[in-house]
Amino acid sequence: MRMLIGDESVAGERGTYPIVNPATEEVVGEAPEASADQVCAAAEAAATAFPAWSRTTPEQRAELLDRLGDLVRDNIDELVPLVQAETGSTLRVAQTMQVPTTVERFRRYAKGAVEPTVDPLAPVPFPSTALAPAALLGAVAVRQPVGVVACITPYNFPLVNMAGKVGPALAMGNTVVVKPAPQDPLAVLRFGDLVREAGFPPGVVNIVTGSGAEAGEALVGSGDVDMVSFTGSTAVGQRIGQVAGHDMKRLLMELGGKGAGLVFDDADLRTTIGGLASAWAFHSGQICTAPTRVIAQRGIYDQLVAGLTQAAGQLTVGDPIDPRTVVGPVVSAAQRDRIEGYILQGAEEGGSVVAGGERPAMERGFYVAPTLIVDAKPAMSVVRDEIFGPVVVVLPFDDEDEGVALANDTPYGLNDYVFTGDATRGMRVARQLRSGSVAINTVQQHPEAPFGGFKLSGVGRDRGSYGLLAYSELQSIVWPA
Ligand code: NAP
Repeated sequence: MRMLIGDESVAGERGTYPIVNPATEEVVGEAPEASADQVCAAAEAAATAFPAWSRTTPEQRAELLDRLGDLVRDNIDELVPLVQAETGSTLRVAQTMQVPTTVERFRRYAKGAVEPTVDPLAPVPFPSTALAPAALLGAVAVRQPVGVVACITPYNFPLVNMAGKVGPALAMGNTVVVKPAPQDPLAVLRFGDLVREAGFPPGVVNIVTGSGAEAGEALVGSGDVDMVSFTGSTAVGQRIGQVAGHDMKRLLMELGGKGAGLVFDDADLRTTIGGLASAWAFHSGQICTAPTRVIAQRGIYDQLVAGLTQAAGQLTVGDPIDPRTVVGPVVSAAQRDRIEGYILQGAEEGGSVVAGGERPAMERGFYVAPTLIVDAKPAMSVVRDEIFGPVVVVLPFDDEDEGVALANDTPYGLNDYVFTGDATRGMRVARQLRSGSVAINTVQQHPEAPFGGFKLSGVGRDRGSYGLLAYSELQSIVWPA
């Protein structure tokens, strides 16, 4: 597979590296190793394309984005197995989310391209001053594109995360350089062919890949890049922020999470367990929004732990292409080893592992069993750190204030959950949680609701119209009416 730089499909100047199927440990394909010069050439191509692209009409951009969505849909039979093989996600996740959500995102931002970008302000009578004569001043606030956006994405949903950045950035009139995660860039590279087929002008979309930090670092450091839209770990986000801050590059940062699932005594147990079990069942817990930190009121604690223990044991772990499988592998041996290290540490620090904990008996692949650690204490590493795997911890609390304090006792603030039979309490507690999103009695995500983090979980907001605005600069235009 080849990268996309300007109007050329190019090989990596540093050769290729293998992409491994996390279930079979077999090589799925080879990805290009970009040199730093190639990354800079991609940013330059995007900068060259920007003036003309930013002056296209919203309707032209909408048409191309719609066409791109159609092409992804038309190639779904090729993209689903490819993205499934390189990510190790279950067939269900690949078929219903990895590719269809990508199509939805391009279609959503085709509509976004024609959303209003000018806010008229009420005219203001202004007296004569030392600055200028009296006037009735009119003004508008105009949304302008930022310029070249570096779109750097994580491994869990390679196409979806890419589309969530490229869609709104292009709709707003920006040009982009995409740098997918090293573990699974193949479907994104294939997407590059669809960009050309859709008829985007050369340089509007560029795609570069690499196995190490070199490509990403060269991109963030490029003087042609005006904005970095990054989704990934907090540690990498902090590093990018330091480098980008030097030239005041605009930042959208969607970072790590350690979601609290705050469960009150009056919660519906079935709904709660179903929701919390998603922390294991959904993409093997490799989800930034997962409710991995369960904080349970004493009256429901034992029942909840028993129910979660049973649920963890019932989830079928195995080959992701078997339709019965619920929990597939994690992305790599390194990620599996990291997760296992946390489970060991959790036990050493005094937690009780009541489900999972041991490596499933599979001949090949990077599997971790759904793991439940109870009797957890706030200072334990399994409670504080994002594990990004199928591991859930449970802590008890007595009253509402203590529950809220425990939920907020984290450097993260991405997505929290409240389970209660009392709607008033649900809303009251949600307002006290220092988290970008709070879901009450559900783990669903609203596609138009703003998405992003408080605290170390990020800066800025994604999704819906909020996602469009993230890729714009506000400009004021003032005149005597
Ligand atoms: P990661 O290790 O932070 O990598 C993310 C991306 O950053 C990759 O493309 C990586 O590629 C690149 N990168 C690494 N170092 C870089 C540098 N110095 N400069 C520029 N780019 C650099 O994250 P991951 O392991 O793929 O994904 C898991 C993390 O993503 C979790 O923390 C999870 O919470 C977070 N996440 C957040 C959201 C959200 O919306 N908030 C959504 C999904 C995932 P290279 O390593 O090749 O450089």
